[in-house]
Amino acid sequence: MIKTERILHLKSSRGGKVRVVREHYLRERVPCCSSLCRHGCDNEGKVLPGDLTHYVVPDVGVVVDYLEILEFTELQGIVFTQTACQAVQHSKGRRQYNRLRSLLKDPRHDCVLFTNEFQEQAYCPREKGESQEEWQARCVYSAAVWYYNHLAGAMNVVMITEKQDTVAQYSCLNSGVFVITLQDYLRDFWPALQAARELHVSICQALQEKESESSQKEFAEHLPAEVLEAGIKSGRYVKGTVQVSKHCNEAVVMTDGSSSKDSDLTSGVLVCGGKHRNRATHGDVVAVELLPKSEWRGKATALSEGQAEERSSEGSGTTPTGRVVGVLQRNWRDYVVTFPARDASQSQGRNSQRILAVPWDRRIPKIRISTQQADVLQEHRVVVRIDSWESTSLYPNGHSVRVLGRAGELETEIQTILIENSIHVAPFSDAQLREMPVNSPERPWKVDPAQVASRRDLRDTHLVFSIDPLGCEDVDDTLSVRSLAGGTLLELGVHIADVSHFVAEGSLTDLEARSRATTYYLADRRYDMLPAVLSADLCSLLGGVDRYAASVMWQLDAGSLAVRDVWFGRTLIRSSYQLHYQQAQALLLGEGPVHVAELAELQPEAQDAKLAELTQALETLTRIARHLRAQRDRGGALELEGVEVRAQLDQEKNITALVPRQPLEVHETVAECMIYANHWVARKIQEAFPHQALLRRHPPPRQEFFSQLVDSAEIRGFRMDTRSNKALAESLDQAEDPEDPLVNRLLRMMATSAMSQAVYFATGLQSQDQFYHYGLALDRYTHFTSPIRRYADIIVHRLLSAAIEADKGAGHSRPLASIKELEDTAHHINQKNRAAQEAQKLSTQLFQCLYFRERDPQTGPSYVANGIIYGIKNNGLLVFVPEYGLKAPAYLKNREGQVVAASPDGSCDWQSGSVRQQPGSITTSSSCGSSTFSLFDHITVRISVKSTPFHADAVKLEVISNKPRPSAEARPQPARSAQGRSQLVQEVVRQVEEAQQQAQEKAARRPKASREEREFGQSKTPNLYSLLEEVRELALLDLDAMARLCATTA
Ligand SMILES: [Zn+2]
Repeated sequence: MIKTERILHLKSSRGGKVRVVREHYLRERVPCCSSLCRHGCDNEGKVLPGDLTHYVVPDVGVVVDYLEILEFTELQGIVFTQTACQAVQHSKGRRQYNRLRSLLKDPRHDCVLFTNEFQEQAYCPREKGESQEEWQARCVYSAAVWYYNHLAGAMNVVMITEKQDTVAQYSCLNSGVFVITLQDYLRDFWPALQAARELHVSICQALQEKESESSQKEFAEHLPAEVLEAGIKSGRYVKGTVQVSKHCNEAVVMTDGSSSKDSDLTSGVLVCGGKHRNRATHGDVVAVELLPKSEWRGKATALSEGQAEERSSEGSGTTPTGRVVGVLQRNWRDYVVTFPARDASQSQGRNSQRILAVPWDRRIPKIRISTQQADVLQEHRVVVRIDSWESTSLYPNGHSVRVLGRAGELETEIQTILIENSIHVAPFSDAQLREMPVNSPERPWKVDPAQVASRRDLRDTHLVFSIDPLGCEDVDDTLSVRSLAGGTLLELGVHIADVSHFVAEGSLTDLEARSRATTYYLADRRYDMLPAVLSADLCSLLGGVDRYAASVMWQLDAGSLAVRDVWFGRTLIRSSYQLHYQQAQALLLGEGPVHVAELAELQPEAQDAKLAELTQALETLTRIARHLRAQRDRGGALELEGVEVRAQLDQEKNITALVPRQPLEVHETVAECMIYANHWVARKIQEAFPHQALLRRHPPPRQEFFSQLVDSAEIRGFRMDTRSNKALAESLDQAEDPEDPLVNRLLRMMATSAMSQAVYFATGLQSQDQFYHYGLALDRYTHFTSPIRRYADIIVHRLLSAAIEADKGAGHSRPLASIKELEDTAHHINQKNRAAQEAQKLSTQLFQCLYFRERDPQTGPSYVANGIIYGIKNNGLLVFVPEYGLKAPAYLKNREGQVVAASPDGSCDWQSGSVRQQPGSITTSSSCGSSTFSLFDHITVRISVKSTPFHADAVKLEVISNKPRPSAEARPQPARSAQGRSQLVQEVVRQVEEAQQQAQEKAARRPKASREEREFGQSKTPNLYSLLEEVRELALLDLDAMARLCATTA
């Protein structure tokens, strides 16, 4: 080892420059991370393969400015020098540096780090008079030469740079290393990678524009980081996350609680207008300074575009108001923008190639893009990234990344939804698919004898069956129930697909599943978390085949159903029946004859005996589930109401109907058993690993979010006690209006939107009283029962295995994840879940709009439906349309100053007049007199679609009568009461059955696999699954409330 000195030029905290001399140790041996190494380097972790045509060493400028291009997985054999990485850290900040680090760690990217400044031959000390840039170029070149020599010329080495000087200086030194520009490199080596070349042009232009920026200040400068930090510490500034309103030029900076000792700030600091927001964008972490009290303002309360979702804790006088003084952390992501049509496009002064593109997300400011493709891109949706937002510029500068397609086309819009929610679902890579077990007609998959020996074999002893939606491919869960000890005990079993057996920790499949975190279900397609060979085959607990499972089995007292014993372990099962809900329901109700495909071959008597056995199992299961439910009800479990609709599609993706989702009773039985298994597994892993278990908690809602519910209930004479989940559940049960069952449904909807979101967490970071699941009324809860489509469950399966091993006295085969790692994972999964829910909601809205748009009001029947008022704003109403499960605003006042006036027969039209809001109602006055609209009034609305070129289409409601349609009123409304339920269930069963049979028939006629199935290994079946899945938890997650929550915890 050689000791030398290294001189660093650092910036001091005051902004000056400091010269620091550090001891610097040089080594002979530094890992080269190449599989061609003949020097016995200590190469751990990733190594570059030897079968490439070249290795590429990017210089500092390329790594700093063009990292996005180096992120293409197609580019292989990249050597990042320490010199370049340190330059990123110094000039681009932590965010970009972390990005580079995760790139280096990610096994899907073929790149390594070379610590060139520690290698005695590669290292070059800086010479007198040499500029930093010259020195860096020399260091990188020297590193490239070292590689060439170290590998004895066995691999070509290419150094890439954006500087012509560097090319001129080094390309003719004839050291075996090629030095070329990035542009030439992409053109000559990667001609097929057009996306990378376009991105290069795009970034290049953005960089040039940045240099030619004017100097006139549009915004106050941000304060330096150390001033912000000191100010936050002293209480002068408040730290929080910016949430921009979708509806007006307003933002709220939400404090994270810890930084605000001031309880006034729990609902955030209001920031009005662009100047005070000072270039902070939605999601950024900022420091705000409060304005004097005299300048505080109230939050906007008017109804505006696309609004049907705000939770109300608003509109009460003034609220703390402030201005942004600095940005602590940017939250920029990929944005979808639309390039304006030519006539509307703004010419930015001298340079007509600078276009102001409009982001799809209304919370994001217009982004200035420099492009030569402005004509081609008109009215196209394009993915862009923001590069900078200087104080001299009214808008942020960005560059385009790729073109999605013409706005308004289905594929473009679906891709937009995915990107806007940061969902990346590339096809599974070949390397990953090679990890998969094979199951083909030529090479059928077989149970491994070693596994038979180590697992409890239930194949001959237990009647195992599944109950799922018709046509379900990914069967995560199966059940068994049997009588033991001469009928004094009952044994209930929940057997879950043993996904963790097939997905090794740290494998490519595991990394991809973790990064997706969940299967994404959109209205017309789904993107699986795991490749199809697992999700639809080897992990799917299909009927009649041997499968590995992870099981929980309880021994219950046959009379009291008290738990006598519980067993956790790995099993081998063979499911006897793959039932769908309707079958199970029909068997339970004794509605014959029920066709069970598994019994078709048997003689009638044998069939009857088998059916009787199955029916008895279902009845026992129902009895147990009712008991479990009653137990949770006593603890305060909530029955909530989420509104969801499902678009029924035919093969050409035309929508045939919109069906509101409804739970089935038999589904509750299955759900109850799953909740029970999740609860017991949560207890088991938390007891085994008090600090390192992954659980799921549902925090109690904040009381102020109940104000809408409490006030609305009071109008109908009901008192809501919201002090606990039990009190709330009881008040909701009592709030039944015998005249109008929808009142209870709406109140449950309001309760749902007051809810917090359930989240995964690492037990070590919370005290045990925080573990509580408010909605389910359980002290501990986790997710264990759906490992095929949720990554959290895979982690929980691994934890359960480790706990079982620990019980046996065996040590862990692998160390558990640390608390910090687990919490990071939990945070990541929570984020992805919100994204998945948001994407599902947006795709449903997209299809809703397609449905209502296709009927031209000029020619076809326009959509007129009954609605019920569930919210009052100062210029309109929030209306729920039960027939379509639709919630949307309806204006009572328009921009021309006209108001909706009702004539004596109830029909409404627009007249000039005024509106006045009172508690629980709003009155319009015009020359025809006045009309009052009150909460819970039934009215008639016309449904249409409002299209905008830049954003998603939105459903629009217009009040056409202040009374419901008489014909529809005569129709009995489905009730949620106990008596009404079985009737409702049957009706929904029938509807669903018809729809699903149609879908099945269509699928059967389909000649061959779709493009997605062939290329992506991902299926495209309509999303029938979500109709019945996880009703309880879905009901807790009102999707409308989600938008807000997303922002809070992003
Ligand atoms: Zn080596």
